[in-house]
Amino acid sequence: MKEQIQKAFTENFGTGPFITITTPARANLIGEHIDYQGGYVLPIGIDRFIYTSARKREDNKIALFSFNYNQYFETDTEHITYEENYLWANYILGVLDEFRKLGFAVPGIELTIGGNIPVGSGLSSSAAVEVSIGVLFQKITGTKLEPLELIKLARRAENEFVGVSCGIMDQFSIYLSKKNSALLINCKTLEYRYAPLQMGNLKFLLVDTKKERSLSSSVYNDRVASVKEAVRIIRQEKDIEFLTDIEDISSYKDKFSEETFRRALHIVEENKRVVEAVNCLENSDFDSFGELMYQSHKSLKELYEVSCRELDFIVEFSKNIRGVKGARLTGAGMGGCCLVLIEEKCIPTFIDELAPLYQQVFGKTPEFYPIQPVDGALYQNI
Ligand code: ADP
Ligand code: MG
Repeated sequence: MKEQIQKAFTENFGTGPFITITTPARANLIGEHIDYQGGYVLPIGIDRFIYTSARKREDNKIALFSFNYNQYFETDTEHITYEENYLWANYILGVLDEFRKLGFAVPGIELTIGGNIPVGSGLSSSAAVEVSIGVLFQKITGTKLEPLELIKLARRAENEFVGVSCGIMDQFSIYLSKKNSALLINCKTLEYRYAPLQMGNLKFLLVDTKKERSLSSSVYNDRVASVKEAVRIIRQEKDIEFLTDIEDISSYKDKFSEETFRRALHIVEENKRVVEAVNCLENSDFDSFGELMYQSHKSLKELYEVSCRELDFIVEFSKNIRGVKGARLTGAGMGGCCLVLIEEKCIPTFIDELAPLYQQVFGKTPEFYPIQPVDGALYQNI
């Protein structure tokens, strides 16, 4: 894939020196829907990549070629504005604009971007594009931002320029993941550390539901609002910033509606599960880790209500397949991917049995991505 992008670059922009930035996707192992409530998350970088080949120009032209969309877009450094007709270009322009806002001069650039991260499957292809451009900008201008500054900049590009209100986990993990590790991020303090992933004969397998995510952003916004409301209610009695500051939510039960209580309970319990999950990794106890994955899914389904029939089907199916330790939805839910922890030798059976059943019930074929924990963009491009 990398070679294809590099070849497309020279076809578009001619031979001569250029650089190529490699940026992975991410998958969250556990800690779902709690980043925006100051919780812990535990993502890994995965071996699906965005490649950006580029060189600086002497003039002020910004020339962008998308390999996957087979589209060319051109502007100049004086006109970095939102482009209605080229959605993909906004993820690039947004990052350049953020550097400009910080006072950096944006040079003319020509680049080709492309890769094999499935779009809209919850593996954060958008953040991979942003981080890739962040790394590229630093390389071609000799700028060096602290990791956290770059991560926040890339997130602002998505929040403000593109207009999508994502949390910080995506850019964080895509930049700072390390191979053979999971990245534990405290979303309240933004402190982080690595937990070992010594997986032996186990693998993570992603099953892409291929479900359209039409409702997902309104559901997402609704959940963010309802847990904020829960925080507001608790603050009448206790000074907290987030629900994850609460040890035992049950004492507040009669203050909430039944639904708000369930939402809040998910946040508090899911946060505790992440801490337990890290303990499991430190002890290479993948049986217990898998059990926590199932518990996380149940909570997302029943308490937080962000699953869907397709995801529940895959999780239930997995319980009857030999070699499976755990499964859960990963990402915002309502579609996207199911993450399965499974013995490597059992993957072919899992795929062969699930694919026709799923096809029968849902009329579409899921996609399967066996994944590997890889280095984030910082370490890929040293
Ligand atoms: P995801 O869950 O994959 O992040 P989003 O809807 O947040 O889904 O972001 C997908 C958008 O990111 C695409 O519509 C496109 O604009 C941009 N994008 C993703 N991958 C690429 C790519 N390979 N080339 C160009 N743009 C991309
Ligand atoms: Mg995204």
